[in-house]
Amino acid sequence: MHAGYSMSLTDIQARIASAEFAADRNIGSARLIAVSKRQPNEAVKTSLQAGQLCFGENQVQEAAGKWPAFRADYPGIELHLIGPLQTNKLRHALDLFDAIHTIDRLKLAGKLASEIQARGKSPQLFIQVNTGEEPQKAGVIPEQADGFIAACRAMDLPIGGLMVIPPVNEEPALHFALLAKIAARNGLSNLSMGMSSDFETAIAFGATHVRVGSAIFGARES
Ligand SMILES: *Cc1c(COP(=O)(O)O)cnc(C)c1O
Repeated sequence: MHAGYSMSLTDIQARIASAEFAADRNIGSARLIAVSKRQPNEAVKTSLQAGQLCFGENQVQEAAGKWPAFRADYPGIELHLIGPLQTNKLRHALDLFDAIHTIDRLKLAGKLASEIQARGKSPQLFIQVNTGEEPQKAGVIPEQADGFIAACRAMDLPIGGLMVIPPVNEEPALHFALLAKIAARNGLSNLSMGMSSDFETAIAFGATHVRVGSAIFGARES
């Protein structure tokens, strides 16, 4: 069972390298975020032992319960928050995470800006874009993205890139291309896009961070 996890990890790493090669990109230019939400600690530990140090979680609470202990045992862990962030959990999130992918509203941006200023250091920051304009989904809609990025910059919030979760029943390539276009015209270099079912396509469209969970760890606990 343990061998299974690490074999999947090796397999995903190999597929990322092939996709980078096929897209004429440098090997290692797309960073693998292993999404460990609702996965057993044993599986996470096996991937840590195999050398994977970059992980994604979608809840502050769940991350707080498992990552401080792992950090104590494995130096060099980089933890990404890929789920929604409530302003009342913002300080806790800044204590735990090295990157936040889900900045999606001015109130959150403003509070982040002042807290980051007070601390004198910032995690890597991404704005989530709702390219499919789905009402139930977080993220700024494409036509408001340029204005939102400018507003964040006016607050001295050091935005490094954009993140997207495409609609489930649409061709993801269209959404990846749109995200890349918005990032390019705003001078942002990081693109967080691509999950288990579409990370190779995302790499072809310029993903710098792919978020892969079930393809590495298997189905999640509910
Ligand atoms: C859960 C999750 C993922 C990983 O999804 P898989 O399909 O298991 O790879 C990626 N991104 C976000 C934002 C998620 O919530």
